[in-house]
Amino acid sequence: MSNYDYDYFVIGAGSGGVRSSRIAAGHGAKVGVAESAALGGTCVNIGCVPKKLLAYASDYGPSFEDARGYGWSAEKISFNWNKLIENKNNEINRLNGIYENLLNNAGVDLVRGYARFIDEHTLDIDGKQVTADKILIATGGKPRRPSYEGAEHVIVSDDAFYLEKMPSSVVIEGGGYIAVEFAHIFHGLSAHVTLIYRGEQILRGFDDDIRNFLANEMQKQGINIILGENITKIDTDNGQYTVQTDKDQSISCDLVMSAIGRVPYTQDLGLENAGIDHKDNGQIIVNDGYQTNKQHIYAVGDVTDRVNLTPVAIAEGHWLADTLFGGIKRPAPSYENIPTAVFSNPAIGTVGLTEQQARDKGFNIKCFTSNFKPMVHTLSGRDERTLMKLIVDTSSDKVLGAHICGKDSPEMTQALGIALQCGATKADFDRTIGIHPTSAEEFVTMR
Ligand code: FAD
Ligand code: NDP
Repeated sequence: MSNYDYDYFVIGAGSGGVRSSRIAAGHGAKVGVAESAALGGTCVNIGCVPKKLLAYASDYGPSFEDARGYGWSAEKISFNWNKLIENKNNEINRLNGIYENLLNNAGVDLVRGYARFIDEHTLDIDGKQVTADKILIATGGKPRRPSYEGAEHVIVSDDAFYLEKMPSSVVIEGGGYIAVEFAHIFHGLSAHVTLIYRGEQILRGFDDDIRNFLANEMQKQGINIILGENITKIDTDNGQYTVQTDKDQSISCDLVMSAIGRVPYTQDLGLENAGIDHKDNGQIIVNDGYQTNKQHIYAVGDVTDRVNLTPVAIAEGHWLADTLFGGIKRPAPSYENIPTAVFSNPAIGTVGLTEQQARDKGFNIKCFTSNFKPMVHTLSGRDERTLMKLIVDTSSDKVLGAHICGKDSPEMTQALGIALQCGATKADFDRTIGIHPTSAEEFVTMR
């Protein structure tokens, strides 16, 4: 034990911080963690978990219609937003309790409050001072807020989970994960949705065929997608909003949600008191071992603004604790072949390189695609299709990327991720027997 209060003190009990503190304590270190909000961080409270619960709720909307094709009839279907939010809140409270138990059972001291650096080994947590030999910054990110006239009227994703009533018309600004997922959520719950994105197509960075396919499916459902435009002003009158764009469009709605990315949450952390290097947007600069310019201060997760996903923050925090306190030597988490999903409708699942990325890296590639109506919608009558795509390196036959837009694609993509991680070839896919009848069997029958 050092002369400090703790061997390891973690700022932020979110995805990365909770995992790292628990694992370090399990290796015998004296560990503390500070948290200024609810335990579990963004993912549990205002991110992945409540988002997926709302997406499930939204999926039910068209499913009632689908069921008619299967012989069901249900009249008088109604939806109660307040009930959904109440049930969602109860589930989040339950998870908060589980996180508290996890920390207690691991022997981690939980210090409730906002931590600031006083010097490079000392933190102030709402008036209480603690010292630590090693410190981990795992403070996550916050939504970026727009700055045009009337921007004070917009909500961001943090607010969307606590709306007092379900809006009937929503304008969503942005074309990334959150904008697309909330377009699905609000549309499925019967709101009229307009998505305004500044670029040529939503979801920049995803495979172009998948982007185009999803945008087309969303438009077929009645979601209004406006591309190549920016919001310039929001006027308000009697609880209604009028959104103006730089191409002189004017759209009325009763909610405007901005989803234009996130910024690392370090603005009030006192980084200057510890001399920690960071970028202008607050992003902490780390090396391959998550070490800042100060040898004993580390950072993982969204605060390092690299791959901002929960399983990545967890993997980084776990590896760091094993390395620092467990004497375990293993390679740091790989950033290749990270599977990811957009919980849109239909959902996207993707792992590996897009067609464009493969070409940019100089691979000679062959693309295999399958565009079909999933069996479930033969009787449901829903006009929804599925697109699957494999990118294969012609010289090695290795599958470089697998992309899906269709029902259950996130579930399929997790398994595809294992195949790509193992270096599977197209021949390996082809000699795998399919499961019939499924959509997933298309992946082993593409010729
Ligand atoms: P966080 O989980 O944000 O935790 C940081 C914690 O630090 C917070 O609890 C914060 O209160 C606390 N904190 C900050 N500063 C201080 C301080 N000075 N003192 C004390 N405590 C402090 N990822 C996925 O993989 N799948 C998804 O489906 C998904 N959906 C998402 C949906 C939304 C709407 C959003 C916003 C994000 C989503 N993400 C998703 C991303 C995911 O939530 C983040 O990548 C993940 O939570 C990052 O973990 P973290 O540990 O870096 O930070
Ligand atoms: P994203 O980075 O995914 O998307 C931000 C969007 O906002 C992009 O379309 C971007 O356009 C646009 N944008 C950025 N700045 C401006 C601006 N000044 N004016 C207008 N538009 C702008 O961020 P999100 O907020 O959607 O999500 C944050 C992160 O959280 C994601 O990147 C992801 O890592 C994580 N997340 C993961 C989810 C999942 O795993 N399912 C779900 C939700 C979030 P452009 O592309 O042109 O830059």
